[in-house]
Amino acid sequence: MSTVAPRTVNKKAARARPSGARPTEAAEPAAPATVGVALREAIYDRILRAVLEHRLPPGTKLVEDRLAELFDTSRAQVRDVLARLANEGLVQTFPNRGAFIAAPTVEQTRDVFEARRLIEPALVRRLIARRDPVAVAALREIVAAEQRARARQDRPTMVRLSGEFHIRLAGCAGNRMLERSMRELASLTVLAIFLYDAPHATACREDEHELLVAAIEARRGERAVALMLEHLDHIESSLDLTPRRDAPVDLAAALGAS
Ligand SMILES: [Zn+2]
Repeated sequence: MSTVAPRTVNKKAARARPSGARPTEAAEPAAPATVGVALREAIYDRILRAVLEHRLPPGTKLVEDRLAELFDTSRAQVRDVLARLANEGLVQTFPNRGAFIAAPTVEQTRDVFEARRLIEPALVRRLIARRDPVAVAALREIVAAEQRARARQDRPTMVRLSGEFHIRLAGCAGNRMLERSMRELASLTVLAIFLYDAPHATACREDEHELLVAAIEARRGERAVALMLEHLDHIESSLDLTPRRDAPVDLAAALGAS
């Protein structure tokens, strides 16, 4: 990966100077701020991708030391990335316990879908109003990648791409705040699918993204919105959101005490 070299340079440079010392031009030829930003972005992308592919399940503890070692960087850099992920709802932090991949409850999952039903029709309308063939091509590209993943029964990639389709749609609609919300909602949906889905079901139904893109391309606003709402209903109804999963365990009953 192209990020390996800057990471190593950055770490060595950090070790070479005493803390608090200002680096000289000769000792630090690369712009350290830029390297740090690129590194954090790379760590963020890797963690997000692992979440979207269900390789980091909900509740997984994210140990700072271990991550710093894995990414060959400092704990401070890792902490920055974890703070960003926490800010986006993907990571939950607990005092004295650390950071964990979020595990949305049944109630939070229902809230996620309620928010998606409000936001995504608006995104679809915005996208149609923009008449942007590049956006349509970008969505088609994801749909094609999903079809290839489905053909080889690559479930992790299918789940990730189904989330990325919705994030890309939000990105193409041209509202950064909605895009940011959608990134969080799509990621939480992927985590909810892990927790509440039937074991072999997929996140988004086979041809629904394709139909949606066709409606957007044809600028059929009402149809596109209806398809999106139907699509969200299908995803939500494929989950087992019965409240019992969140019911607190009765310790006395569980341990056989009277
Ligand atoms: Zn979808």
